[in-house]
Amino acid sequence: MIKVPRGTQDILPEQSFKWQTVEAIIRDTCNVYQYKEIRTPIFEHTELFTRSVGDTTDIVQKEMYTFEDRGNRSLTLRPEGTASTVRAYVEHKLFGQPDQPVKLYYMGPMFRYERQQAGRYRQFVQFGIEAIGSADAAVDAEVIALAMDVYKKAGLKDIKLVLNSLGDTESRTAHKEALVAHFAPRIDEFCGDCQQRLEKNPLRILDCKKDRDHELMASAPQLTDYLNEESAAYFERIKAYLEALDISYELDPNLVRGLDYYNHTAFEIMSTASGFGAITTLAGGGRYNGLVEELGGPSSPGIGFAMSIERLLLALEAEQVEIEDNSASDAYVIALGDVPKLEAMKIVKSLRDSGISAEMDYADRKLKAQMKSADRKKSQFVFILGEDELNSRSVQIKELATGDQQMVAIEEAVSYLQQKMNTKEATQ
Ligand code: ATP
Ligand code: MG
Repeated sequence: MIKVPRGTQDILPEQSFKWQTVEAIIRDTCNVYQYKEIRTPIFEHTELFTRSVGDTTDIVQKEMYTFEDRGNRSLTLRPEGTASTVRAYVEHKLFGQPDQPVKLYYMGPMFRYERQQAGRYRQFVQFGIEAIGSADAAVDAEVIALAMDVYKKAGLKDIKLVLNSLGDTESRTAHKEALVAHFAPRIDEFCGDCQQRLEKNPLRILDCKKDRDHELMASAPQLTDYLNEESAAYFERIKAYLEALDISYELDPNLVRGLDYYNHTAFEIMSTASGFGAITTLAGGGRYNGLVEELGGPSSPGIGFAMSIERLLLALEAEQVEIEDNSASDAYVIALGDVPKLEAMKIVKSLRDSGISAEMDYADRKLKAQMKSADRKKSQFVFILGEDELNSRSVQIKELATGDQQMVAIEEAVSYLQQKMNTKEATQ
């Protein structure tokens, strides 16, 4: 038997309605904040990710699905969405638009060759936003607010925002020197990755999952102590805006995002629900003021975040938030006999034509079996059409919740149902 590849999953109807609900919340929130959707290809030139995400990151070093196409080009299934969005911003000269920042969102599958575990898949769906073309600290606050809103609207309560500033290049260089001085004498006590990081990108040592408990980690020089005046002032403004928006946060000087292109603001949103597994990060984001230039555009500051729908759904489960399935059919039409079946098809069609969801039986089963189906499918109304009803050009319409039953002329069945459904909606 052929099964799904490791790290991927089928999303069956009993789950897919949850995805649709969450996706609708996301699109609605983006609209409220006026972020517009961008759709980029699922694969890109490999160089896009090595250049933007960075050679020293886990993603580029060991997680990319890279392949050669038949024209010998190196292509990669996208592991994240920022690189493609910024590439498109440059390629389509969006920096030339009069209103900056350009506010974009994306939602779609990403691919990373990772060890499978709860909350970690090889294909997962990321929703992310990017605001490119402004360095205003108010934009940072807006981006964070949007992410928090999505979680709140989805029904999560146990979430916290963790915030840090990585500072500008000058601050980072000063901090980097301090880090090297701190770790270099005892770097042989660290993993091979960290030994490489010491040379290439010592900041990322702080993000190491293997050596996180080493005593030198806790005593490492903290970025926030190395922020120059400008970077510190910038960080203070963001905090003030967040406070104005009533968004509380926790400061974590060791919060370092995995990707190379971040500076200034870095943040994560975590689940604090007790039932949540080992991986508690729901979303991560930050500012990337050098990325547009790195990808060939004019210097344009940007900020964004990404979250996976998988982890959002896991968090909802951990908090036992129920998502309602509103996709049950309005009407189930039962036909008893060949001639009634012809008429039943017409009734189903006219119901559907007027936007009412309707189904019928395709196994010529007995009344009782069909009634059971209607029940299982949580249909609101059942139509019963036998020879007798047909002879009087009418149909029995039964409301399952109340048991009310009415004989209605076939020609009036649709308007009868519409009226019933309207009054029901009005009283709910
Ligand atoms: P982690 O530290 O968990 O590996 P990351 O730093 O690799 O996270 P990002 O690249 O910042 O994560 O991705 C942003 C968000 O995308 C994460 O916070 C998480 O919600 C989600 N995400 C990342 N990798 C996966 C995955 N393999 N499966 C499901 N969701 C993922
Ligand atoms: Mg990762």
